[in-house]
Amino acid sequence: MFQAILIEKDEQGYRATQQAIDDSLLPAGDVTVRVAASTLNYKDGLAITGQSPVVRIFPLVPGIDLAGTVESSTHPAWQPGDQVILNGWGVGETHSGGLAERARLKGDWLVPLPAAFTPEQAMAIGTAGYTAMLCVLALERHGVTPDKGEIVVTGAAGGVGSVAVALLARLGYTVVAVTGRASEAPYLKELGASEVLDRSAFNVPGKPLAKERWAGAVDTVGSHTLANVCASTRYGGVVTACGLAGGFDLPATVMPFILRGVTLAGVDSVMAPRTLRLQAWERLARDLDPVKLGLMTRTIGLDEVIPMARQLLDGQVRGRVVVKIAKAA
Ligand code: NDP
Repeated sequence: MFQAILIEKDEQGYRATQQAIDDSLLPAGDVTVRVAASTLNYKDGLAITGQSPVVRIFPLVPGIDLAGTVESSTHPAWQPGDQVILNGWGVGETHSGGLAERARLKGDWLVPLPAAFTPEQAMAIGTAGYTAMLCVLALERHGVTPDKGEIVVTGAAGGVGSVAVALLARLGYTVVAVTGRASEAPYLKELGASEVLDRSAFNVPGKPLAKERWAGAVDTVGSHTLANVCASTRYGGVVTACGLAGGFDLPATVMPFILRGVTLAGVDSVMAPRTLRLQAWERLARDLDPVKLGLMTRTIGLDEVIPMARQLLDGQVRGRVVVKIAKAA
């Protein structure tokens, strides 16, 4: 038996509880991993609270990320003792995930734990941080270099936002952070933001075109915020869109795209190909300051996950949450 968060849905309703489960509840897979650490992302919050239909099979262990050690494997790439990480691939949605002492997965989904990181540091990054790096890579791919001008990061005090601010600042970009929490301005400046703006100027309906300001953007919020960011992006600028913390709608016009040549670059981490994942993790090992990572991270136990999921969705959690998992029996 081992400890897990389990989501069930039956005649008693939708619920997440911590309980001891056995291997019979784990899905099919060719690698079994002893989980050292997991994390809480926005999507985990949605899964645990049931606020959105993220979980599509029941019962299911949530947790879209994990880091741990291979216990057994029939996959040619992995041997017992290998240290691995997993992000996405539908884990924590349609396949049981990381918020348990043990997980069974497809070996093709795993990547090696980068030598630069402990399992806890890899989970401090987690899907949120790896997605922030995918946004940075997309900006680079579209030619946004630090000399082009300011980069705006929305939802900046959240997980994706915090890592994006730290990465971009370290890479020499001038970063403007947008947050609804004015009290987090000193934190965002410590991560490297040169200016902090209040989200109230962004999350309301705006003009089709506004004064040109941003050379690039990392948007984690969607809705009016994304529309306003596009409207104020400079000629030829690039907006990376990865989130929906403010809504999944996009009440925008085509004007920034057809009059200013703005590029809207979608970023998905879940099904991102392996080569891009390996590139993102290699760049995280090189470009993310471990001191800044420590600054944005808090560590909790499995027993604190369920209440923390609600707080995360309520926008009360700053930066990243690592879930330290006890050793399996
Ligand atoms: P967090 O909860 O850590 O951060 C979200 C942040 O968004 C909050 O901290 C807050 O920032 C801001 N926010 C919350 N509610 C609102 C609102 N109503 N209006 C405006 N801003 C709001 O989540 P993550 O950083 O983990 O994820 C951010 C988003 O990115 C989520 O929508 C998530 O689903 C998405 N995501 C997408 C991925 C992909 O593959 N495309 C991968 C990972 C995440 P502040 O307090 O600074 O205002």
